[in-house]
Amino acid sequence: MSALEPHAVRAVLDALLPRRTPGATRAVLGAGIDVDHALTDGRAFLGSVAEHGWGTPRWPREHGGAGLDEAGADRLQTIVAEYERPDLYPFLIGLSMVGPILIAHGTADQQRRHLDPIRRGDEVWCQLFSEPEAGSDLAALRTRAVRDGDGWRIDGHKLWVSRAAFAAFGLLLARTGPVEAKHAGITAFVLPMDAPGVRIEPIAQMNRDEHFYEVRLEDVRLPDANRIGPVDGGWRVAMSTLERERASVADAGVGPEVVVALLREHGAVDDPAWTSRAASALVAASLPAIGAEVGRPVGGKLLLAAAGREIAALARDLRGPAAAVEGGPWSTLDLTAPSLSIRGGTDEIQLNVIAERTLGLPREPRAS
Ligand SMILES: Cc1cc2nc3c(=O)[nH]c(=O)nc-3n(C[C@H](O)[C@H](O)[C@H](O)COP(=O)(O)OP(=O)(O)OC[C@H]3O[C@@H](n4cnc5c(N)ncnc54)[C@H](O)[C@@H]3O)c2cc1C
Repeated sequence: MSALEPHAVRAVLDALLPRRTPGATRAVLGAGIDVDHALTDGRAFLGSVAEHGWGTPRWPREHGGAGLDEAGADRLQTIVAEYERPDLYPFLIGLSMVGPILIAHGTADQQRRHLDPIRRGDEVWCQLFSEPEAGSDLAALRTRAVRDGDGWRIDGHKLWVSRAAFAAFGLLLARTGPVEAKHAGITAFVLPMDAPGVRIEPIAQMNRDEHFYEVRLEDVRLPDANRIGPVDGGWRVAMSTLERERASVADAGVGPEVVVALLREHGAVDDPAWTSRAASALVAASLPAIGAEVGRPVGGKLLLAAAGREIAALARDLRGPAAAVEGGPWSTLDLTAPSLSIRGGTDEIQLNVIAERTLGLPREPRAS
């Protein structure tokens, strides 16, 4: 059976999930979800589609994926979106980032140990990249990994670590060379989040979620077997999947039928002022998928973040200012949309990337 014969995919999904009510909103990147439920439901879903590789559509088949290209994975995603699929936010770093990294750069032991639990949802991962002085300028990170006999001693401070409190492992970037070496002095590690010396503290979020954390690392010991890729080669390891992560973190998860239902509910469906605003947001939201389909990728994360913000603003204007704080999915979207322009790389950094890499404009001066 081809994984992408839509009727065959639907036949499997029909037995697993209810169809989605047209026009119903769904959570944006886990915003507003109950994490315990999401973990249980997500695990059950990922376990039941594991034999088809649909939780990991772009992983190669030999590692349990569906072996699809980006356009194929988008088509599968469109079919899955017809169903009440559990929110896979808790599992995103493992599925879209760590898995592909271990497939490309991990040792056979690391692949054997982690890939199956990741794709089945048995192992949640977080991403320990950002620091107080290293966000956009990630290459300035200062968390240190120092040789300690056969292994490593880690000391440092990570910030904005989504999922840290319920992750079993973290993908850690630490400095193994001098700070001046910037990109060239960074190494990637597998960090067990329950290792002695790992301290996790919650950060309050304006959308009322408790999904992200500050992580302090004091005298944490790791065996060398936890190193991913070469010493000082962590930048290439981390960057190899960041582009893909970027697009996935900006998906506001609101499709055309949801927006049309919103317009209908507020009697705005015949009003060109409202419909043209809705149309422009939905066009922006569709462009990355169209670009992937025709093999001409466009600034996916930037467009998706803009679309998310525009749709949230449209809903706020239709529902009135009080609705922004009354709770429920639209108010959660409203309070979450600004983060789409920050997490996974800010809008300004995306513009720099497009200017320099796509348009070939002169590179901005670097601090060093
Ligand atoms: C909801 C959420 C979840 C997150 N989850 C994680 C996570 O799981 N793991 C993790 O490691 N990190 C995570 N982050 C952190 C995120 O990656 C950083 O916030 C982001 O990269 C920006 O870094 P910063 O906050 O230090 O801002 P800064 O880098 O200090 O930027 C401040 C402002 O300056 C602008 N700016 C900076 N440099 C330039 C430049 N060269 N040109 C033009 N403008 C510039 C930025 O665009 C921004 O507007 C998360 C953030 C959010 C909001």
